[in-house]
Amino acid sequence: MPVFLHDTMSRELRPLLTKPDKASFGMYCCGPTVYGPAHIGNFRTFILQDVLRRTLEASGIKVKHVRNITDVDDKTIRGALAAGQSLATFTQGWTDKFHKDCTALGLLPPHIEPGAVVHIPQQVAMIEALIKRGHAYVAKDGSVYFKVCSCSDYGKLSHLDRSKLQTQDTNSAGQANDADEYDRESANDFALWKAYKPEDGENFWPSPWGKGRPGWHIECSAMSLEHLGATFDLHGGGVDLCFPHHENEIAQTECATGIKGFAAHWFHSAHLLVEGDKMSKSKGNLYTLEQLIEKGFTPNEVRYALISGHYRTPLNFTLHGVENARSAIAKLERWVDRILPVAGFSRAEFVAPQVHELQTTWGRFAPAWEALQNDLNIPGCLGQIFTVVGEREDPTPAQARQDVCGLAKLLQALGLVLFVAKAEAAIPVEVAELGARRWAAKQGKDFAAADQLRKDLSALGWTMLDRKDGYDLKKA
Ligand code: AMP
Ligand code: ZN
Repeated sequence: MPVFLHDTMSRELRPLLTKPDKASFGMYCCGPTVYGPAHIGNFRTFILQDVLRRTLEASGIKVKHVRNITDVDDKTIRGALAAGQSLATFTQGWTDKFHKDCTALGLLPPHIEPGAVVHIPQQVAMIEALIKRGHAYVAKDGSVYFKVCSCSDYGKLSHLDRSKLQTQDTNSAGQANDADEYDRESANDFALWKAYKPEDGENFWPSPWGKGRPGWHIECSAMSLEHLGATFDLHGGGVDLCFPHHENEIAQTECATGIKGFAAHWFHSAHLLVEGDKMSKSKGNLYTLEQLIEKGFTPNEVRYALISGHYRTPLNFTLHGVENARSAIAKLERWVDRILPVAGFSRAEFVAPQVHELQTTWGRFAPAWEALQNDLNIPGCLGQIFTVVGEREDPTPAQARQDVCGLAKLLQALGLVLFVAKAEAAIPVEVAELGARRWAAKQGKDFAAADQLRKDLSALGWTMLDRKDGYDLKKA
């Protein structure tokens, strides 16, 4: 069965499939604006895109994932000037920080990560094509605007009432649409090229219309065209980007190329909230990954908390939510420790990437996989995982093997890792294996073997503390 996902444009659940003439599934995601640390609201969106990509890959689809870096806009220019740095140095610093956080949170690096600045020639070429085709005009100051009334189906993504377009000057998150700019013919027309202003400092580029810089929307149109072509399979971003950013991307690309069907599928994720309000840099109500690590949480726990709600429902962030994530991961670890000896795997084999490739079956985790395939229902998937974990059944070794492989594949799709930091990093493989064997012996009521294994552990300087549902290994 293919993966089904809700599509913002058609408002339907639709299958995600590779086009017969394409080698891979082209996925474009709007990336971060690098003028400060990304907050965990941003990461909710990036992690959900990562889980979608991993789910497609687990279903056998080859994905080409493009996620840009917005390294030129009002905020980056303002930030660079305030820091007394060049725009390139300033944005590189925040890009490096973003990459560090992405790695810690288990995000797969995109196959292509284009930067807006190095794609200015492509943006200029696209603006020229739009002027030539009668979809854009040059204002007196040398700025260039997109003529919204020239695009007959403008508004199709966000289902805008075109008769109300003249008054539409807030975006889908209710923020002002920068309606104060230059001499536009209509309040709805948006900037493709912004003429130079003294507050831009040294940050300007030449163009046929004089020095200036590109508008924000055109960068994603130019970069997706460059790396995925005029039409591609899926476009993603937070729900605030639906209007006007994505609407404008569609209008720019379709009008510049004359080809309809920019992105076949639109994937918008709902916001991470703090006390009912969107987490955002401008509101200052944010948490960064670093702040949560300082509070003692691991990135893996943060990731779990951020994916625990459905992507189409806003998620309220609380520290209690990350504590719950910690308990859930610990419960999974205990279950895995119990079942590994029955399956004949060690912890090291479980965390090795190969284990999920050993079998194509999902064992008792088939319903959890089906939940993921059905509109990326991650809370449903986690619920199904814990249904299995709570079952009292004793599987045979063959069943246990299937279960272990099924769970390992699911964790791979979710991008979650067990036995990180606290356990696996500290406990040598040899000790972990002795622990698993001793637990299995005790479960099998082979107390002589269990005693011997406890002595073996002790000889290596480790003790094993038993609980009702598992055990901990501690250095003596
Ligand atoms: P930005 O760095 O502001 O360009 O945003 C990068 C990505 O994060 C975009 O896809 C935004 O839609 C998304 N985003 C921003 N704030 C939130 C939030 N509170 N919850 C979820 N996604 C967000
Ligand atoms: Zn974008």
